[in-house]
Order: sequence, then C-alpha cells, then structure tokens
Amino acid sequence: MAKILIVDDAEFLRVRISKMLVSNGHQVIEAENGAVAVNSYKTNRPDAVLMDVTMPEMDGLAALKAIRTGDPNARVVMLTALGQESVVLEAIKSGAKDFVVKPFEPARVLAAITKALG
Ligand SMILES: [Mg+2]
Repeated sequence: MAKILIVDDAEFLRVRISKMLVSNGHQVIEAENGAVAVNSYKTNRPDAVLMDVTMPEMDGLAALKAIRTGDPNARVVMLTALGQESVVLEAIKSGAKDFVVKPFEPARVLAAITKALG
C-alpha cells in the first residue's frame, strides 16, 4: 500500500482516480491546485503524486518544481492533455517520473503509479 497525492482542479477526475487507487489498496489524499498540493506534500509526505498541469492558483509545472526542490526524491507523474508536449518535456527535465495523457484509461494511471513507486 502506498500513499498517493492526487492533484487536479477537476473534482470528478480526483474522485474517479481516487476510487481506482483505493480499490487497488492505496491510500489517497486530494488537492485541487498546485499551491494546496505543495503544502499537502510537506505535511503528508506521500509516496507518489499524480499532478494535473492546468490548474488555478499554481499550475502543475510550478508545483512539480516546488515539490522537487523540497524533496529531490519526490515521485511525480504528470497528467497532461494533448498538445502539451512542451510541458511534458519541461516536466521530465524537472524530474517528473512519467506522464499520462488525458483522457486516460484507469489502468494506464495505475501502471504509471506502480512504475513510479517501483
Ligand atoms: Mg486542470
């Protein structure tokens, strides 16, 4: 069992991913934007993070960088949209472990998390 922080401004997506991870034995925490995620990461020290890119307050790229500055071993998987290739490149350069393109199959998210935890 791992503790996963799910970061997305779309509540239905957080709920969907959360259910899937919980049914696979994981513990989840949710955050609705990058700023909340950075604080939650410090407090909760999750084993991995699923991070949306486009969010209010602080976007996923900025949150990835802030989290990795605080914990260089942070395992972050980005949730991206089609057309965000430059974001994907910068995220990988900034230490993201993997990325999953929306709309995604739940199995793909689970595989990326499992690999990141590995
Ligand atoms: Mg979003």
